[in-house]
Amino acid sequence: SRPVDPQADDAERAAESALRPSTLGEFQGQPRVSEQLGLVLAAARNRGAVADHVLLSGPPGLGKTTLAMIIAAEMSAPLRISSGPAIQHAGDLAAILSGLGEGEVLFLDEIHRMSRPAEEMLYLAMEDFRVDVVVGKGPGATAIPIDIPHFTLVGATTRAGLLPGPLRDRFGFTAQLDFYDDTALRRILMRSATQLGVRLSTEAAAEIARRSRGTPRITNRLLRRVRDYAQVKADGTVSLALARDALDLFEVDDRGLDRLDRGVLEAVCARFGGGPVGLSTLAISVGEETDTVEEVAEPFLVRQGFLMRTPRGRVATPAAWRHLGLTAPVGAPG
Ligand code: ADP
Repeated sequence: SRPVDPQADDAERAAESALRPSTLGEFQGQPRVSEQLGLVLAAARNRGAVADHVLLSGPPGLGKTTLAMIIAAEMSAPLRISSGPAIQHAGDLAAILSGLGEGEVLFLDEIHRMSRPAEEMLYLAMEDFRVDVVVGKGPGATAIPIDIPHFTLVGATTRAGLLPGPLRDRFGFTAQLDFYDDTALRRILMRSATQLGVRLSTEAAAEIARRSRGTPRITNRLLRRVRDYAQVKADGTVSLALARDALDLFEVDDRGLDRLDRGVLEAVCARFGGGPVGLSTLAISVGEETDTVEEVAEPFLVRQGFLMRTPRGRVATPAAWRHLGLTAPVGAPG
């Protein structure tokens, strides 16, 4: 697995849960989202009402699950967790909804991957706190309405645009999470380091933050690797030099590129003169699947301004040549 993968597996999720902030006050970065959400929740609490449904959108690892947990904690309500892919039949959703208690928070991760019938059931549940359970088949089938408790749905999706309009419209509050700046990541690091019992210099924190691709999940993961390194190679204190050595060992460079990212950039520059080069040719030349190059490496390289997608293929930018320490030939594209 890549040290800079924005997704987590189950084992990592367990390690992460120790590092989750549990209040909005501890949640770093995303100042606008934090303030707006704080207001929405405080208003609901003052009214003694159940909070509006909340939609959280943004790339993996930016804190959607964490915010869902914070919402439940701030509303002093239990949290139920499920996900779009786990709800294939409307009946699955009916079972979850009818099992909720009054005021509970239901977190549906990857809500855009729910099946169509479940989605339609959810519209009604969100709006009228009711589900229609169909009994029987064919012309004799009847829908029996069942009231369900008032609940707060927190939906998470990587892109709000993936949701059908009618579903999107039923959320009272929508928050778009952005990649974090280095200041917020440094604060997250200092807090995580305290939690893990690691002594981290401010320069080391800045170094780890810079290599974390704007993603708290990656920040915390890199910190755990640096901690391991410090425990084995030093006395457990993390200096700048030690952080650099550890991150170099794990092949995460000073802009957060790993071996795959650099391999792709090097291929475009060194083998194809800076491009344009077609995606499948590029994938073959780095020995990866086309999907891996397109979905795993490319988005970050494009976001960092190292790579451009053009109708004729992938093109390296002047920043890519500079980053690799190479000189672009005269007349190179980009
Ligand atoms: P997502 O659900 O968007 O994939 P998570 O909520 O699971 O992301 O967050 C991944 C990790 O990053 C968790 O360990 C969490 O504690 C940490 N994290 C995310 N956002 C923040 C934040 N704003 N402040 C502190 N830690 C954060």
